[in-house]
Amino acid sequence: MEFEFTTAGRIVFGAGKLREAGEIAGTLGKRALVVTGRDQDRAFSLLTLLREHGLETVEFVVAGEPDVESIRGGTALARAEWCDSVVGFGGGAVVDAAKAIAILITNEGDVLDYLEIIGGGKTLTEPPVPLVAIPTTAGTGSEVTCNSVIRSPEHRIKVSLRSRSMIPRVALVDPETTYTLSPDLTATTGLDALTQLLEAYVCTRSNPVTDGLCREGISRAARSLRRAVEDRQNAAAREDMAVASLFGGLALANAGLGAVHGIAGPLGGMITAPHGAVCAALLPEVVAMNLDALREREPKSDAIPRYAKAAKLLGRNPGASAGDAVTLLRRLVSDLAIPRLSSYGFSLDQMDELVEKASAANSMKANPVELTPEELESIIQSAL
Ligand SMILES: [Zn+2]
Repeated sequence: MEFEFTTAGRIVFGAGKLREAGEIAGTLGKRALVVTGRDQDRAFSLLTLLREHGLETVEFVVAGEPDVESIRGGTALARAEWCDSVVGFGGGAVVDAAKAIAILITNEGDVLDYLEIIGGGKTLTEPPVPLVAIPTTAGTGSEVTCNSVIRSPEHRIKVSLRSRSMIPRVALVDPETTYTLSPDLTATTGLDALTQLLEAYVCTRSNPVTDGLCREGISRAARSLRRAVEDRQNAAAREDMAVASLFGGLALANAGLGAVHGIAGPLGGMITAPHGAVCAALLPEVVAMNLDALREREPKSDAIPRYAKAAKLLGRNPGASAGDAVTLLRRLVSDLAIPRLSSYGFSLDQMDELVEKASAANSMKANPVELTPEELESIIQSAL
């Protein structure tokens, strides 16, 4: 057995820990680019905390998912203002933008020079400026992952900027920042976290460190996702979901994902839909197909008992079998009223394009069994 585990230099977790943001960021730089989402009221208290600790701040707003243009704008601003550090405060999209900007400040040229598929694919050679990532959703775990997903509207695709050194210097996770999330966002982001944990757990590159994180994360999400959706101020449920999200990020950055993300990635570039909702719609169908394919072609695969273990954690029932994972996930997705893929305007004439892109996706490579184009199409059909 061989494995490696890389993560943020420091992970600070706990309800109320946001209050330490100024102290933490103040040790990493003098002038920070503060990347936030649309909600300026929320950002205001963070900016006050940072300034109280003597940090000069330059604000940059990312509305929605980062695209090539917004990353270019943020990088230009940070360079012109001589920012020596970055603070990212928001959902996965904002944290992704902050990660991309932090590394592009120090690496010459334009964002397109470094993007895979649509750009030059150049290697990022310089380390980023120090980055403090503060997530305000519990889903992506982006605060501890090594890539940023960037949209190119021109190419109708989402691509990743990727480098081990993009993992933020500090991940500051305060479950209180998620108390104001709507039930919808709680459900979709929470299901993204659960998907990431499950995919990393059964994938071909899992290791004993990520296994432990995945089992712990799945069991916390299983007991708390519904509660967090029903009662947004439930501190224990919010804490569990924040742990699940963080652990999902730790696991995926060091193991990999699978067919759900292999399909959801390219699909996200073709339609406008929340990433978590797309993952949730696909998740039960992928598990069902993976189990069928494994039983048929690789009946001795370690992934089958892993699905059984996951089902026991999901159902909180020691008697659950691998197949029960499908039933439990279908019930969860239906209880949380996750829309079908067709409601986001995906049409059948886009099927061939999606299957082709999904087959080539990075995440697909770690799926526990290689799926045929026909099997991928069948998964997508079942989630429509
Ligand atoms: Zn995801």
